[in-house]
Amino acid sequence: MRRPRASLGPKLLLSHLLVVLAGLVTLFVAAQLIAPAFFAGHMREMTGAGGHGMLGGADEERALDDAFRAALLQALLVAGAAASAVALLVSLFIARRIAGPVGRMLVATRRVAAGRYAERVPVERANAGDELGALAASFNTMAEALERTERRRLELIGDISHELRTPIATLEGHLEGLLDGVVEPGPELWALLHGEAGRLRRLVDDLQELSRAEARQLALTLRPVAPASIVRDTATRLRPRFDEAGLDLRVALPDGLPPVRADPDRAAQVLTNLLTNALRYTPAPGTVTVGVAPAGDGITFRVTDTGIGFAPEEAARLFERFYRVDKSRSRARGGSGIGLTIARALVEAMGGTIAAESAGPGRGSTFSFTLPSAD
Ligand code: ADP
Repeated sequence: MRRPRASLGPKLLLSHLLVVLAGLVTLFVAAQLIAPAFFAGHMREMTGAGGHGMLGGADEERALDDAFRAALLQALLVAGAAASAVALLVSLFIARRIAGPVGRMLVATRRVAAGRYAERVPVERANAGDELGALAASFNTMAEALERTERRRLELIGDISHELRTPIATLEGHLEGLLDGVVEPGPELWALLHGEAGRLRRLVDDLQELSRAEARQLALTLRPVAPASIVRDTATRLRPRFDEAGLDLRVALPDGLPPVRADPDRAAQVLTNLLTNALRYTPAPGTVTVGVAPAGDGITFRVTDTGIGFAPEEAARLFERFYRVDKSRSRARGGSGIGLTIARALVEAMGGTIAAESAGPGRGSTFSFTLPSAD
């Protein structure tokens, strides 16, 4: 790896020497301009008006003037040499203090660029409070963020391969059976193959939606919407599925709710996701209640079910990609494991928050999201 050229030290030395030189030249010029007049005046004072002074004669005066100039030049030369030596020491010291940390950071930056995200630079005590210290700390924060992103990327690739494997293995198994003649073709088999293909398509659709939502690339049209209309429309659309599953879907809407600032289609999509989850995880006979209530600066939409629930400590993890409390159960019911991750991304894109609560397994659950009110 190419190391940085050490050019900071000579540059600093040069700048210090320039300052020394400028000082010397200024001093010299000033001495040349001021000293003769000052010196002549002084001499006149010493020789005295009546000729009783200590010195006399123009020759002597000139000799004294020359001696003074020579002494001044000598003093300036000695001062210049001393100042240059100090400049050299100071620039070496500063160069080491600056170039050391900067050089280390440069090497670390190149390592990160080459994919070594675990790279960090030490924040030295001497630089703790200054810009170099801040730069090192900021570099470390950036490296950490990159490392996290890289880890998530690898996890995602692993998760997706894992999710794709199950339906592909089912399809492959049945097609092999058909090819070998050990499986009889028929409507049941066609339906099964069709179901697996549908599962694959749903997974790919969800992944695309998730990537758009997480990259904040969804076109959101935020406008004031009546929360009651979102709830009523979604509940009406899903009611036949609840009836079919033998579940009671209740809608509790208070009067006079203020409008929310939301994209109505996306808000309905989130509510649909929570309601289909309630449908999926509530055995019949059961009740699912959807309600709306003002909360602080916003409006909270709440879906409560009498279903299988979950351990309270799992609440936050449910929103993670591909996290399922019971993998086989969720998959068997058509879940992709990313519905809640998409819901959270959508709610956050609209400036809201989402949460899950349960008193424990078998004791039902409540999923709620809050959107900012339009006022
Ligand atoms: P899935 O497609 O598996 O339902 P989600 O992201 O929608 O994926 O939900 C993640 C997990 O959260 C589910 O697998 C399930 O374990 C749990 N979960 C979601 N909704 C409920 C609910 N209403 N009751 C109990 N558990 C739920």
